[in-house]
Amino acid sequence: MSKVNADEVAKADGFCEGYKIFLDNAKTERDAVRYSVKLAEDNGFTEYDFTKTYHAGDKVYVNNRNMALMLAVIGKNGTKNGVRLGIAHIDSPRLDLKPNPLYESNDLALFKTHYYGGIKKYQWTTVPLALHGVVALKDGNVIDVNIGEDENDPCFVVTDLLPHLAVEQMSQVMTKAFNGEHLNVLVGSRPFNSDKESENVKLNVLNILFEKYGIVEEDFLSADLTMVPAMNAKDVGFDRSMIGSYGHDDKVCAYPALMAALDVKEPESTVITVLTDREEIGSDGNTGMKSTYMADFIADLAKADGMELRHVMRKSICLSADVNAAFDPTYSSAFEANNSCYINCGAVITKYTGSGGKYSTSDASAEYMAKIRKILDDKNVLWQTGELGKVDGGGGGTIAKFVANLNADVVDLGVPVLSMHAPFEIVSKLDVYETYRALFEFYSF
Ligand code: MN
Ligand code: MN
Repeated sequence: MSKVNADEVAKADGFCEGYKIFLDNAKTERDAVRYSVKLAEDNGFTEYDFTKTYHAGDKVYVNNRNMALMLAVIGKNGTKNGVRLGIAHIDSPRLDLKPNPLYESNDLALFKTHYYGGIKKYQWTTVPLALHGVVALKDGNVIDVNIGEDENDPCFVVTDLLPHLAVEQMSQVMTKAFNGEHLNVLVGSRPFNSDKESENVKLNVLNILFEKYGIVEEDFLSADLTMVPAMNAKDVGFDRSMIGSYGHDDKVCAYPALMAALDVKEPESTVITVLTDREEIGSDGNTGMKSTYMADFIADLAKADGMELRHVMRKSICLSADVNAAFDPTYSSAFEANNSCYINCGAVITKYTGSGGKYSTSDASAEYMAKIRKILDDKNVLWQTGELGKVDGGGGGTIAKFVANLNADVVDLGVPVLSMHAPFEIVSKLDVYETYRALFEFYSF
C-alpha cells in the first residue's frame, strides 16, 4: 500500500459506494444485466443494430437473452487494428431450484436445490437466503420473482443439525457430512387449513405463490429460480477498508469493467466489454464464453469495416477480468508466499490459471505481459502478480483460455478475494478501484 496516497484511497472509497449498490442489485446474471443495461442507457449506449452504420465514439450494447451483455465503444480505427476486450462474468455460485422443487416432509415445506458452481456446502446452511429469478408461463408471460431482499420480506434457509446431536455428522469428512441433497431450503410450516389432509403445508405455499405471482406448481418446470444470500454488501473492518458481500466473484471485476466502458472516450481501437454468464460451471451454453456470441458480434463489427473476423481476432487484446485468491494468513499453508496476491496490493495479474502441470489454461506470453506491464506502470496503476495457491494444491480456471482459443492475446487481471465462493466474500476497496483504473487505461492507451 506504500505507493498509494490519501487522495487515491479517498477515490477508491468513493468508487466503492457505487460498487456496493451494484452488488445489492446484481446478485444473479439476470439482475446484473438488467441493472447494467439501465446504467449503459443512462450513459448514452443504444441497442446494437447490425444494419446501421456506426462512427467513432458511438456506444452500443447487445443483450444476450438477459443473461449476458456486451458493450462496445466504437474506436477511431474501428476493428482494423483489432479490438480491446474486457471480459468479466456476472454469474456467481448459488443454490438453483430443481425443476420439481417443492415438497412437504413432516409438516414442513421445502425446496430441493441443485447447487451451481463450486461451493463448500456447509457454508450455505443457516444463512438467510433470498429467492431470485423468473418463471416463464406457457402464455408467453415471464414473471420476475424477488423475495427476501426487502427488509419487510421473509427469507429462506437451509437448516443444519444442532451440535448436541451431531456426534456422527462431526466425525465424517466434510464432503460426506454435507452433500448436495442436504441443501434443502425451508419455505413454510403452516397448513392451508386445519383438516387432516396430507401436504397441507405445501398446499399453503402454493396458494401464496398463486396469490402473489399467479403461478401454479407446474410452472416451476419452466423457471430459472435460485437461492442467493439475502444479505447486502457491508464495509468490513474498523477502518472500513474492505467490503463483505455475496457475489464479489466476479461482480468485483464486472463493475470496474462496466464503469471503464462508460468512462472511456473515443478510444483508438473499438473497446468491447463483455459481462458473461456460466463461468462458474465451465462456460458452456449459449450465454457462456464457449458460445459464439462474442465472436459473432465482433464479426459484425469487422464486416462493417470491410474486415474478416480472423484478421481482427489475431490483432485483438484482452483482459480476462476475474478474481484470484488473496493470501489468507489463517490458511497460509495453501499459498506460496512469493507468488500469491495480497489484499490492498492492487489489481492482480495472473499469467496462467489451471491446475497440475498448467492444464486447462492460457499462459499469457512474455511479450503480452510486457505490454500490459507498460500500460499499467505508465499510468501508475497499483498492481501485483499472483498464482492461485500452491502448485498441486488444487486449481481453477477463468474464461481466458476461450478467448485465447479465438487467437487473441489475453491475460487475467482482477481483484484478490478472501473466502472466495463463500456466501460472504471479502475484497479491498483499493483493489477494486485499481482494477477499474487498470481496465480504463487498457481501454484508453
Ligand atoms: Mn470468477
Ligand atoms: Mn468463481
